[in-house]
Amino acid sequence: MNGSGETTERTMPEVDRIAANRAAIAARQARAELKRKLRSGEVSPLRVLEQSRVPGTPEASLRITDFLLSFPAIGAVKAERIRTDLEISDRKRLGGLGKLQRDRLERFVRERTGSGRAGSRPPLTVLAGPTAVGKGTVAAFVREHYPEVKLSVSATTRAPRPGEVHGSHYFFVDDEGFDRMLAGDELLEWATVHNQHRYGTPRGPVVEASERGEIMLLEIDLQGARQVRASMPEARLVFLAPPSWDELVDRLVGRGTEDEAERERRLETAKVELAAADEFDEIIVNDEVPRAAARLVELMRGGN
Ligand code: 5GP
Repeated sequence: MNGSGETTERTMPEVDRIAANRAAIAARQARAELKRKLRSGEVSPLRVLEQSRVPGTPEASLRITDFLLSFPAIGAVKAERIRTDLEISDRKRLGGLGKLQRDRLERFVRERTGSGRAGSRPPLTVLAGPTAVGKGTVAAFVREHYPEVKLSVSATTRAPRPGEVHGSHYFFVDDEGFDRMLAGDELLEWATVHNQHRYGTPRGPVVEASERGEIMLLEIDLQGARQVRASMPEARLVFLAPPSWDELVDRLVGRGTEDEAERERRLETAKVELAAADEFDEIIVNDEVPRAAARLVELMRGGN
């Protein structure tokens, strides 16, 4: 081994070790905070399980035993028995669960928390999330497979894309038309998205659906979601998250319908939007569209 190799061996690992220690301490603190929130009920076990699908999150690094111990009335002995029944080893962290293990754990959590019980159905559910995360795809899947869910049709000043139908995908209006809707207070919320076009939710259909007791979904951007929160606090806000940032970038670039400048603009928006996940009532990770849609509808029906 030469001199420089020895220098590298003596100094680099030290630097790495300090960085690794810092990261480990931060991760432990984040996990401790998560456990506290779980125990106090500030965050639901199903939400933690959902978020644990995203690598690198405190949820993903939470040990199965700590997860189980956060339930009221589950102590060490019970936790071990449940874990054994679920066929999950005590070294497992939530992010490392196999599909079958995750399914079994999810079933257990649902039974334990009585999720899906009736009576707490939100009058309105908002689905928001970063650009290109697949909100439109999940909403389209819901439209096709869950006919009881009513989807709000937004007004927009952007031009129709091929295949888009006026009145079905959007109400395509010009600037004057949009101004008229604003002047008539016809919009529940509205926003200029990607600094370009205006989009808004017509108020009438939302009110009618709510009066008829229908389940209504708004697929809108973050600014719009915040307005709904302010004007309808009883609405449920659901954040659709990508499985990872890389995945989001892939989806954004892969779609290929925008030019370079537009893509840059959307990436910037996406970064800001990702940071907003904490403002939402629920997070759904869009790893598989049918699963994400099923979870969304479960929440819309009043599940937790
Ligand atoms: P796109 O032009 O690709 O159909 O939609 C662009 C963005 O506008 C999406 O993020 C979508 O969620 C958002 N959007 C669509 N309709 C509305 C709306 O009525 N209000 C708000 N605030 N955003 C909307």
